[in-house]
Amino acid sequence: MSTNFAQRVLDWFDLHGRHDLPWQHDTSPYRVWVSEIMLQQTQVKTVIPFYQRFMAAFPSVQELAAAQEDEVLHLWTGLGYYARARNLHKAARLVCSDFEGSFPTTLQELQALPGVGRSTAGAILSIACGGRASILDGNVKRVLARYHAVTGWPGKRAVHDRLWEIAEGYTPRERCGDYTQAMMDLGATLCTRASPRCQECPLQQGCAAHRDGSQLLYPGKKPKKVMPVRQTRLLIIRDPQGAVLLEKRPSPGIWGGLWCFPEAADLNPEDSCIDQTGLAAAHIESWPVFRHTFSHYHLDIEPVLAEISANPGKVMDADRQLWYNVRQPPQIGLAAPIAELLKQLANERLAKE
Ligand code: SF4
Repeated sequence: MSTNFAQRVLDWFDLHGRHDLPWQHDTSPYRVWVSEIMLQQTQVKTVIPFYQRFMAAFPSVQELAAAQEDEVLHLWTGLGYYARARNLHKAARLVCSDFEGSFPTTLQELQALPGVGRSTAGAILSIACGGRASILDGNVKRVLARYHAVTGWPGKRAVHDRLWEIAEGYTPRERCGDYTQAMMDLGATLCTRASPRCQECPLQQGCAAHRDGSQLLYPGKKPKKVMPVRQTRLLIIRDPQGAVLLEKRPSPGIWGGLWCFPEAADLNPEDSCIDQTGLAAAHIESWPVFRHTFSHYHLDIEPVLAEISANPGKVMDADRQLWYNVRQPPQIGLAAPIAELLKQLANERLAKE
């Protein structure tokens, strides 16, 4: 039965699967690893241009290890979940320092790298090293939960263990790398979250959810919690040339290692501007509050523009602050809402010129 399951998936993949994704060419542990990390919580079509830019900048693990964190975060700006990028960078340095630049080839050693879980390690081993290893990413969880009508939220230990058990049972000895890609592809293109295309699916026969018409019940949903709402006020200090003051966020913490407007949480904007630049603001203007949602809470952000009449010419802390020229932006990592505010400032500037 397990051979039959894998064979049906492989036959479908040979005929209908995607074979031209950028990480499917010149396959190497490094290229597969970067793609797997980018694909966590992000769709293939979003990942492709980020992946291509990343590979052009860092074609090898050595080049990634030698890069500055700012360069890595800059190329990640817009992808979200920045801990992934910081872990990628740390892991590249470990591969170079502890494994002489060659990826380890055991599940245990791979999983010891920052940001590499059991499924990512399995994907690297099966796709890039030709080993037999299972994966269980979000797409595969959905396919297996539906096929076997596994109830419950996969974040629960018992459900998670059951899905891994099923995944391991189906993993073939031959063509394991193709099977890994096939399962991810099938989940992403046929067994989709909202509208599975069961009529085209090679697993239709034997699929419990298809038989019962209960596809949308699987996988079980995470129990709903009311997300807390936090507030912050960001101070956009702008000089007459349009440069704005940014500071690097401490790591760990939200937006760790990314550049952000200073928070004016405890002080009023006037005092905060003096605190940051030594200068009083000539004009203060509150912008509409907007919401940014993280996985565990909402953040209501109030941007406050503080215009100063001259640039002080230096920053208080050169390692953690810089004047950002919106017309010639430096290559640094920016959190999504900050990138959006900078775009607004650049557009405003262009409109005035
Ligand atoms: S038959 Fe439908 S529900 Fe079952 S695995 Fe295929 S697409 Fe998913």
